[in-house]
Amino acid sequence: MTMIFEPKATPTVDIAGTDKKFPVNRIYCVGLNYVDHVREFGEDPAKIKPVYFMKPGDAVVANGVDVPYPSHTKNFHYEIELVVAIGKRASFVSEADAENYIYGYAVGNDLTRRDMQLALKDKGMPWDPSKGFDMSAPISTIHQASAIGHPKHGRIWLSVNGDVKQDSDIDQMISGTAKIISELSELYTLEPGDLIFTGTPSGIGPVVSGDLMEAGIDGIDTLTTRVR
Ligand code: MN
Repeated sequence: MTMIFEPKATPTVDIAGTDKKFPVNRIYCVGLNYVDHVREFGEDPAKIKPVYFMKPGDAVVANGVDVPYPSHTKNFHYEIELVVAIGKRASFVSEADAENYIYGYAVGNDLTRRDMQLALKDKGMPWDPSKGFDMSAPISTIHQASAIGHPKHGRIWLSVNGDVKQDSDIDQMISGTAKIISELSELYTLEPGDLIFTGTPSGIGPVVSGDLMEAGIDGIDTLTTRVR
C-alpha cells in the first residue's frame, strides 16, 4: 500500500523510570466531576451528572514545555486533573473489573478557552474548540500502576506564579476512575493508548502570557507549564 503522504508521528508520553514511551490514541475528558467545582460552575450537584468530551491525542504537551496563549480567547484557564492511562482494550467492563485495564496514572492540565466554552454551553452547542485545541493537554510522565498502585486519595493542587489556586484531594471525585472507565467503555471501545482526564476541583481561573503553572498530585507526579 502506498500512502499519499507520510502519516504524522504518533504522539507519546514518557513513562516514569524507563526510557519507554506511551503511544497516545484518544484523550477522553470528564467534566463536572468534583462537587465544589460543579458549584463554582453555577450548577446544582444534586441535578448534574459528570459529562464526557474529547481532545485530540496530539494535544499532549510534555512536562516543562511552554504552551502558546491560544487565539480566540480572552479567558484562558487551567484545570489540574488526575489522568488515567489505559493499557488494554476495554468494552462494557464492570466497575469491579475496571482497574485491570489501567496501565498507569499521570498529572494533566485540561487547558480551556473558558469564554468560548461558556458561550457555546449557553447556546447548547458543542464546545469542542474551547477544549480540543492545539497543545491543550499538558501531561506529566505516566507512572505504572504496577509501581504506584491505584491511588484513591492524594492532594491535587495547582499554583500560578507560586500562588496556590486549586487545592483538593482526588477522593473528592464524584465518579471514581473505575466508574468512569466502566461508563466510557459502554460509549466507546477503549484502546491501549487512551488517556482519560478525570475532572478538576474548584479554583479554576485565568492565566496570561508569562505565567507559570505548577501542579501535582501527591503520590503521582508534578507538572510545570509556562504560558508563552
Ligand atoms: Mn476538565
